[in-house]
Order: sequence, then C-alpha cells, then structure tokens
Amino acid sequence: MARPAQAHIDLDAILANYRAAKVCAPQARAMAIIKANAYGHGAVAVAHALAEQADAFGVACIEEALELRAAGIKQPICLLEGFFSAEEIPLMLQHQLIPAIHHAAQLALLAQYLPLCTQKTQLKVWLKLDSGMHRLGFAPEDIANAYQDLTALPVQVLGLMTHFARADELTCPYTQTQWQLTQQWAQSLNLALCCANSPATLAWPSTHADWIRPGIMLYGATPIPEAQTPVQLRAGMRLISQLISVRDLAAGEGVGYGQTFVTSQPSRIGVVAMGYADGYPRHAPSGTPVYLEKLGACVPLIGRVSMDMLAVDLSTYAQAQVGDTVELWGPHLPINQVAEAAQSIAYELLTKVTARVPRYYHY
Ligand SMILES: *Cc1c(COP(=O)(O)O)cnc(C)c1O
Repeated sequence: MARPAQAHIDLDAILANYRAAKVCAPQARAMAIIKANAYGHGAVAVAHALAEQADAFGVACIEEALELRAAGIKQPICLLEGFFSAEEIPLMLQHQLIPAIHHAAQLALLAQYLPLCTQKTQLKVWLKLDSGMHRLGFAPEDIANAYQDLTALPVQVLGLMTHFARADELTCPYTQTQWQLTQQWAQSLNLALCCANSPATLAWPSTHADWIRPGIMLYGATPIPEAQTPVQLRAGMRLISQLISVRDLAAGEGVGYGQTFVTSQPSRIGVVAMGYADGYPRHAPSGTPVYLEKLGACVPLIGRVSMDMLAVDLSTYAQAQVGDTVELWGPHLPINQVAEAAQSIAYELLTKVTARVPRYYHY
C-alpha cells in the first residue's frame, strides 16, 4: 500500500491550454514557459507533451535547459534569466540555448569569452528591455547601446523582450505604458518583439506582438481569477489523497495542533493524508475548500494543516469512509480558490508540491 497523496498531471490538458494560448494570439508564436519544473508539473514530461506544437520553450536557467536537452528536447530553449558566468557560454553554444541578455555584465562576458569559443554554431540571444518592471533588463536610455554592443559580437539578436508588472490588473494603465515604450524601441531598432505573459495573452491582445510567453495558463490556472477568460482552460494538476481516518467527536473538542478549531456540535471529522511537507499551504485556514469525490462537493478544512495531514469537517457527509478520494485542487476545485483562501497564488502552490508527492502522467 502506498501513501495516497498523488499529483495526477493531465498532459492533454496542458497541450490544450497551449493551443488555447495560440487561439488567443493567432498571429504570434508562443514560447511555452516551463521553468521551475514546469510549475511543478514535471518539465521533461511537459516538454515532451508539447514538443510537436511548441515554437520554443522558456526556462529560468541553464540547469533547467540542460535537463531538457538530456531528455532529447530539440526545440529552441530560452534562458529567461540569461547566463550567470563565463563557463555557460560554450555550453549555450553547444546546446543551442538562447539567453535573454539583460545586463552589461553579460555583454562584457560575451565580448571577452565568445571569441575564444570553438563551437561552430552562432549564439542566438534575446535582448531584454526594462520597460518598468525594474527587475531585469536594460533601461530605455541604455537599450540602443546594448543593441549596438551585441551587433558587434558574433551573435544573432532574435528580438526585444520585456516583462509586464501588472498585466493581471485589467483596469491598470501601466501595461499599456510598458507596451508603448517597448514597441517604440522595437520599431526604432527594427527588432521582433516578445512581451506577453499569461495575463497579457488572455487580457491584452494589443501586446501579443511576434511572440507570447504563456506560463501559468498552460497549467490551467487563470492569472486573472476575477475575470472570464476568453478561452477555456483545463487544470493541469489534480492533487489528490484519501481519508485515512474518520472519527466522531463530541461538541467542544479541539482538532489538531493548537486546537484552533473547536467543534460547536457533535461532529464527524476526516483526516486526509496531505500536509505542508507535500506542499499543501500551511496557512490555509479553517474553511478552505476540500473536494470529496464521492460527495461531489467540497467540505471545509478545519484546524491547522500539519506536516503530513490535514483535517476536514464531514458533518454534512455521514457516509464518508476511510479510503474515500479527496481532491485538494484540480478539475473539480480550481487551485485559485485554495490559493485565495491561503492568501497565496496558484503559481506558488503549484511550484511547492514536493518530491514526496509522486507524479502520475496521463496523456
Ligand atoms: C515566468 C515568466 C513568464 C510566464 O509568466 P506567467 O504569468 O506564468 O504566464 C513569462 N516571462 C518571463 C520573463 C517569466 O519569468
């Protein structure tokens, strides 16, 4: 018998979500963002599932890219944080990886070390503009010089990249401000343009440009939970477990560490094999929904989430039995509902599912 905490990954749903991103931006190519182990879904499995369709993949760093190359992934792979040290330069050439060049320190390393490389391939790069996120990228006043420096090197500049800070805020004008600035620079440098993350893919069609970079939407979580999405998204992960204990308690009994939940009436309590060591958010409060498959509805979490277990109130469901399947998030319970209850975001919940939870892949 295995512990019943499992993450079921629906690769068909992820592929459908990729296609949905392309439906949103029919003129654009799409770089499928599969950094951080494809947001916890398994980067190699997701890359194989998307390989036929994806125009390119985006990861955070070379370690993530080399894992994909070792697994036989042939598509272009962009390193969204670029590279960090000179040793990566020959590896990027050897494995045809495409760094985002976002800082003068990278230009200096390229100028110094590229001429020493013996690989026959040419390095392709994206040039990153800081249009207002103020995280990575050249400031607008430096971007033309950075481009000049790149053109003096044996590299091919694929285009200009920028990242939106507030594209998930539908009434915030800042996305438009960032877009206009970026578009002007792309025009004046005559470069292709890659801006739109998932929220911009879904909600800011004017920013789709030549390439989009969808991430979270591939995994079926909308980054704008309060709005209707223009396309249907399907949950990429179904996080499940089982009731491993069912017990009846009298009124006035505390449940779990700190006894933060006290029964107000005689209650039936279920214990689920899922805790914060599996990645379930420890701060999910009493009342956070947990879906019971046989009931076809949610019951409330009660008390503190502990390392390996959490408790639910089964008072509305007298037939509950040990072994009943529980969905923590997935097709029946949107992860955004859990994230909101736990004051987190789907991105964090998905990337925090730990290695203890086995992934099962469905095609
Ligand atoms: C993570 C990331 C994305 C994808 O963002 P989502 O909101 O998940 O779609 C796109 N671009 C960059 C630079 C990123 O770091």
